[in-house]
Amino acid sequence: MNSPDNGATEPLVRMRQIRKAYGAHTVLDGVDLEVDTGEVVVLIGPSGAGKSTLLRCINGLERIDSGEILIDGRPLRYEEKALNLVRRQVGMVFQHFNLWPHKSVLDNVMTAPVRVAGREREEARATATRLLEQVGLGQFADRYPASLSGGQQQRVAIARALAMRPMVMLFDEPTSALDPELVGEVLAVMRDLAEAGTTMAVVTHEMRFARSVADRIVLMADGGIAEQGSPAQVLDEPGSERGRAFLRQVERV
Ligand code: ADP
Repeated sequence: MNSPDNGATEPLVRMRQIRKAYGAHTVLDGVDLEVDTGEVVVLIGPSGAGKSTLLRCINGLERIDSGEILIDGRPLRYEEKALNLVRRQVGMVFQHFNLWPHKSVLDNVMTAPVRVAGREREEARATATRLLEQVGLGQFADRYPASLSGGQQQRVAIARALAMRPMVMLFDEPTSALDPELVGEVLAVMRDLAEAGTTMAVVTHEMRFARSVADRIVLMADGGIAEQGSPAQVLDEPGSERGRAFLRQVERV
């Protein structure tokens, strides 16, 4: 949000000193993260580092124990009405796409805009049709999810999230459940979104994608941020031992 006073731009997502524990297990231990408008932030790091939890905190799917989250300058609150608004502002794509099996592809994309956002059916249909074309599935509008490949279903899920016109898109390991030959088509859609200026935070193990698409890479380990910076800084010159240890384990990119 632009401040009229000083012209400075508030980050679209600002997380300050986020703490989150499951029982005695502290998963996020005072994390600060900002995502600017139009920025693509890619979160990497070992399994269990808290990447997914951090992402889920941004749209209120997980409730933080302490700290503060601001979306477009407004503090995240956990009342139902406030959460519903945040979920419209913050789109999310999961590892498992969970399309409605009994609805057509088109209906999967246009149902929430009509039912949740109160859009006119015809307007929602036109938007859904355009988004399905954008993700390369215009000809599949009348099909049912079960007749689509996993990669195609995930592209429908991306269109479904975009249909709410979110301010920021979160991707939580969107290609992890896919057969290897289907990963590329989903990454290509995400790359297009990034190039079109979509604000994105992405958890992924796809290092080549991270290197080529990220404006900033955040490497998480042990409930905190071990490294962050440009892809070259983080992937080629990690300053921390935790960062180096993780990068030694992933395949060279
Ligand atoms: P990452 O995405 O980096 O692999 P996660 O955020 O998924 O890490 O998980 C961080 C830690 O929190 C893990 O140890 C995981 O087992 C634990 N965890 C995640 N979700 C829950 C939950 N709902 N209940 C209990 N523990 C959880």
